[in-house]
Amino acid sequence: KAALEAGETVAIPTETVYGLAADATNGEAVARIFAAKQRPSFNPLICHVTDLAMAEGFAAVDPLSRKLAEAFWPGALTLVLPLKPGHAIHPLVTAGLDTVAVRAPRGFGAELIGALGRPLAAPSANRSGRISPTSAAAVAASLGDAAPLTVDGGPTQVGVESTIVMVADGAVRLLRPGGVAAEDIEAVTGARLERA
Ligand code: AMP
Ligand code: MG
Repeated sequence: KAALEAGETVAIPTETVYGLAADATNGEAVARIFAAKQRPSFNPLICHVTDLAMAEGFAAVDPLSRKLAEAFWPGALTLVLPLKPGHAIHPLVTAGLDTVAVRAPRGFGAELIGALGRPLAAPSANRSGRISPTSAAAVAASLGDAAPLTVDGGPTQVGVESTIVMVADGAVRLLRPGGVAAEDIEAVTGARLERA
Protein backbone atom coordinates (compact mmCIF):
# COMPACT_ATOMS: atom_id res chain seq x y z
CA LYS A 1 0.00 0.00 0.00
CA ALA A 2 2.83 2.42 0.86
CA ALA A 3 4.50 1.68 -2.48
CA LEU A 4 1.25 2.41 -4.34
CA GLU A 5 0.75 5.65 -2.38
CA ALA A 6 4.28 6.64 -3.39
CA GLY A 7 3.39 6.18 -7.08
CA GLU A 8 5.18 2.85 -7.52
CA THR A 9 3.84 -0.19 -9.35
CA VAL A 10 3.18 -3.44 -7.48
CA ALA A 11 2.45 -6.84 -8.99
CA ILE A 12 -0.53 -8.35 -7.20
CA PRO A 13 -2.52 -11.58 -7.38
CA THR A 14 -6.16 -11.34 -8.47
CA GLU A 15 -8.50 -14.27 -9.05
CA THR A 16 -7.93 -14.03 -12.83
CA VAL A 17 -4.20 -13.41 -13.40
CA TYR A 18 -1.44 -11.39 -11.69
CA GLY A 19 -1.87 -7.66 -12.32
CA LEU A 20 0.71 -4.88 -12.52
CA ALA A 21 -1.06 -2.31 -10.36
CA ALA A 22 -0.69 1.45 -9.90
CA ASP A 23 -2.84 4.28 -8.53
CA ALA A 24 -5.21 5.04 -11.44
CA THR A 25 -5.34 8.72 -10.51
CA ASN A 26 -1.53 9.20 -10.64
CA GLY A 27 -0.20 9.76 -14.18
CA GLU A 28 3.44 9.05 -13.32
CA ALA A 29 2.46 5.81 -11.60
CA VAL A 30 0.37 4.71 -14.58
CA ALA A 31 3.20 5.62 -16.97
CA ARG A 32 5.40 3.15 -15.05
CA ILE A 33 2.96 0.35 -15.94
CA PHE A 34 3.26 1.08 -19.66
CA ALA A 35 7.06 1.30 -19.41
CA ALA A 36 7.47 -1.98 -17.48
CA LYS A 37 5.16 -3.88 -19.84
CA GLN A 38 6.48 -2.14 -22.97
CA ARG A 39 2.80 -1.71 -23.72
CA PRO A 40 1.73 0.73 -26.45
CA SER A 41 0.07 3.76 -24.86
CA PHE A 42 -3.02 3.47 -27.10
CA ASN A 43 -4.01 0.19 -25.33
CA PRO A 44 -6.18 1.22 -22.33
CA LEU A 45 -6.00 -0.41 -18.88
CA ILE A 46 -8.69 -1.88 -16.63
CA CYS A 47 -9.52 0.10 -13.47
CA HIS A 48 -10.00 -2.13 -10.44
CA VAL A 49 -12.44 -1.08 -7.71
CA THR A 50 -13.84 -2.46 -4.47
CA ASP A 51 -17.47 -2.25 -5.55
CA LEU A 52 -20.11 -0.41 -7.56
CA ALA A 53 -20.01 2.57 -5.23
CA MET A 54 -16.33 3.19 -6.00
CA ALA A 55 -16.99 2.70 -9.74
CA GLU A 56 -19.74 5.32 -9.60
CA GLY A 57 -17.18 7.83 -8.32
CA PHE A 58 -15.83 8.11 -11.86
CA ALA A 59 -18.09 6.14 -14.25
CA ALA A 60 -21.75 6.35 -15.25
CA VAL A 61 -23.51 3.05 -14.53
CA ASP A 62 -26.61 2.33 -16.67
CA PRO A 63 -29.26 -0.08 -15.32
CA LEU A 64 -28.12 -3.08 -17.39
CA SER A 65 -24.47 -2.62 -16.39
CA ARG A 66 -25.63 -2.32 -12.77
CA LYS A 67 -27.48 -5.61 -13.06
CA LEU A 68 -24.35 -7.29 -14.42
CA ALA A 69 -22.15 -5.83 -11.68
CA GLU A 70 -24.61 -6.96 -9.03
CA ALA A 71 -24.60 -10.46 -10.52
CA PHE A 72 -20.86 -10.92 -11.10
CA TRP A 73 -18.92 -8.53 -8.80
CA PRO A 74 -16.60 -9.23 -7.22
CA GLY A 75 -15.49 -11.44 -10.09
CA ALA A 76 -14.03 -11.85 -13.55
CA LEU A 77 -16.36 -9.48 -15.44
CA THR A 78 -15.12 -6.12 -16.74
CA LEU A 79 -17.64 -3.45 -17.77
CA VAL A 80 -16.79 -0.63 -20.19
CA LEU A 81 -18.62 2.48 -18.95
CA PRO A 82 -18.75 6.20 -19.85
CA LEU A 83 -16.48 8.39 -17.71
CA LYS A 84 -18.25 10.99 -15.59
CA PRO A 85 -17.36 14.68 -16.01
CA GLY A 86 -14.70 15.76 -13.50
CA HIS A 87 -13.54 12.19 -12.82
CA ALA A 88 -10.06 11.68 -11.30
CA ILE A 89 -8.88 8.80 -13.53
CA HIS A 90 -5.68 9.76 -15.34
CA PRO A 91 -6.17 9.90 -19.16
CA LEU A 92 -3.24 7.49 -19.70
CA VAL A 93 -5.40 4.75 -18.12
CA THR A 94 -8.09 5.08 -20.78
CA ALA A 95 -5.72 6.02 -23.61
CA GLY A 96 -7.70 9.25 -23.85
CA LEU A 97 -11.05 7.51 -24.49
CA ASP A 98 -14.26 8.82 -22.90
CA THR A 99 -15.03 5.34 -21.58
CA VAL A 100 -13.30 3.30 -18.88
CA ALA A 101 -13.05 -0.46 -18.32
CA VAL A 102 -13.93 -1.33 -14.68
CA ARG A 103 -13.86 -4.51 -12.60
CA ALA A 104 -14.12 -5.46 -8.92
CA PRO A 105 -11.64 -8.27 -8.17
CA ARG A 106 -11.86 -10.80 -5.36
CA GLY A 107 -9.42 -11.40 -2.54
CA PHE A 108 -6.13 -9.59 -1.98
CA GLY A 109 -6.68 -7.02 -4.75
CA ALA A 110 -10.02 -6.02 -3.25
CA GLU A 111 -8.51 -5.57 0.22
CA LEU A 112 -5.65 -3.49 -1.16
CA ILE A 113 -7.95 -1.18 -3.12
CA GLY A 114 -10.14 -0.78 -0.04
CA ALA A 115 -7.12 0.15 2.08
CA LEU A 116 -5.89 2.62 -0.54
CA GLY A 117 -9.37 4.06 -1.06
CA ARG A 118 -8.64 4.64 -4.75
CA PRO A 119 -9.03 2.61 -7.94
CA LEU A 120 -6.01 0.69 -9.21
CA ALA A 121 -5.14 0.51 -12.90
CA ALA A 122 -3.87 -3.02 -13.42
CA PRO A 123 -3.23 -4.87 -16.68
CA SER A 124 -1.76 -8.35 -16.60
CA ALA A 125 1.77 -8.36 -15.16
CA ASN A 126 3.57 -9.55 -18.30
CA ARG A 127 5.52 -7.95 -21.13
CA SER A 128 3.13 -6.74 -23.80
CA GLY A 129 2.20 -9.57 -26.16
CA ARG A 130 3.19 -12.39 -23.78
CA ILE A 131 0.99 -14.81 -21.86
CA SER A 132 -0.70 -13.47 -18.70
CA PRO A 133 1.03 -14.71 -15.53
CA THR A 134 -0.84 -16.93 -13.07
CA SER A 135 1.97 -17.09 -10.49
CA ALA A 136 4.54 -14.75 -8.94
CA ALA A 137 7.33 -16.72 -10.63
CA ALA A 138 5.70 -16.11 -14.02
CA VAL A 139 5.60 -12.37 -13.29
CA ALA A 140 9.33 -12.36 -12.60
CA ALA A 141 10.03 -14.45 -15.70
CA SER A 142 7.99 -12.18 -17.97
CA LEU A 143 8.92 -8.73 -16.65
CA GLY A 144 12.54 -9.57 -15.80
CA ASP A 145 14.42 -6.47 -14.65
CA ALA A 146 11.21 -4.43 -14.86
CA ALA A 147 9.46 -6.63 -12.24
CA PRO A 148 8.45 -4.51 -9.25
CA LEU A 149 7.59 -5.56 -5.72
CA THR A 150 5.47 -8.68 -6.24
CA VAL A 151 2.90 -9.96 -3.75
CA ASP A 152 2.98 -13.76 -3.93
CA GLY A 153 -0.53 -15.08 -3.38
CA GLY A 154 0.16 -18.47 -4.92
CA PRO A 155 -1.41 -19.62 -8.20
CA THR A 156 -4.48 -17.64 -9.34
CA GLN A 157 -7.89 -19.33 -9.12
CA VAL A 158 -9.50 -18.51 -12.45
CA GLY A 159 -6.26 -18.44 -14.46
CA VAL A 160 -7.65 -16.53 -17.47
CA GLU A 161 -8.35 -12.81 -18.03
CA SER A 162 -11.67 -11.19 -17.24
CA THR A 163 -14.53 -11.19 -19.72
CA ILE A 164 -15.02 -7.64 -21.08
CA VAL A 165 -18.49 -6.38 -22.09
CA MET A 166 -20.02 -3.03 -22.96
CA VAL A 167 -23.68 -2.03 -22.86
CA ALA A 168 -24.75 0.00 -25.90
CA ASP A 169 -28.31 0.81 -26.96
CA GLY A 170 -29.69 -1.62 -24.40
CA ALA A 171 -27.67 -4.56 -25.71
CA VAL A 172 -24.61 -6.22 -24.15
CA ARG A 173 -21.64 -6.55 -26.49
CA LEU A 174 -18.82 -9.03 -25.84
CA LEU A 175 -15.44 -7.28 -26.31
CA ARG A 176 -13.22 -10.08 -24.96
CA PRO A 177 -14.10 -13.59 -23.78
CA GLY A 178 -12.71 -14.58 -20.37
CA GLY A 179 -13.41 -15.97 -16.91
CA VAL A 180 -17.19 -15.36 -16.95
CA ALA A 181 -18.97 -17.48 -19.57
CA ALA A 182 -21.13 -15.77 -22.21
CA GLU A 183 -24.04 -18.08 -21.29
CA ASP A 184 -23.88 -16.93 -17.66
CA ILE A 185 -24.14 -13.30 -18.80
CA GLU A 186 -27.03 -14.18 -21.11
CA ALA A 187 -28.77 -15.91 -18.20
CA VAL A 188 -28.67 -12.64 -16.23
CA THR A 189 -29.72 -10.30 -19.05
CA GLY A 190 -32.17 -12.68 -20.73
CA ALA A 191 -30.79 -11.64 -24.11
CA ARG A 192 -28.16 -12.85 -26.54
CA LEU A 193 -24.70 -11.30 -26.24
CA GLU A 194 -23.62 -9.31 -29.26
CA ARG A 195 -20.30 -10.62 -30.47
CA ALA A 196 -17.86 -8.37 -32.30
P1 AMP B 1 -5.41 -6.20 -19.90
O1 AMP B 1 -5.42 -5.13 -18.85
O2 AMP B 1 -4.03 -6.55 -20.36
O3 AMP B 1 -6.24 -7.38 -19.49
O4 AMP B 1 -6.13 -5.56 -21.14
C1 AMP B 1 -7.24 -4.76 -20.95
C2 AMP B 1 -8.10 -4.79 -22.16
O5 AMP B 1 -9.23 -3.99 -21.91
C3 AMP B 1 -7.43 -4.23 -23.39
O6 AMP B 1 -7.31 -5.24 -24.37
C4 AMP B 1 -8.34 -3.13 -23.87
O7 AMP B 1 -8.58 -3.23 -25.25
C5 AMP B 1 -9.62 -3.32 -23.07
N1 AMP B 1 -10.15 -2.00 -22.70
C6 AMP B 1 -9.71 -1.23 -21.70
N2 AMP B 1 -10.37 -0.06 -21.66
C7 AMP B 1 -11.27 -0.10 -22.65
C8 AMP B 1 -12.25 0.82 -23.14
N3 AMP B 1 -12.44 2.01 -22.57
N4 AMP B 1 -13.00 0.43 -24.19
C9 AMP B 1 -12.82 -0.78 -24.76
N5 AMP B 1 -11.90 -1.69 -24.36
C10 AMP B 1 -11.13 -1.35 -23.33
MG1 MG C 1 -2.88 -8.41 -20.79
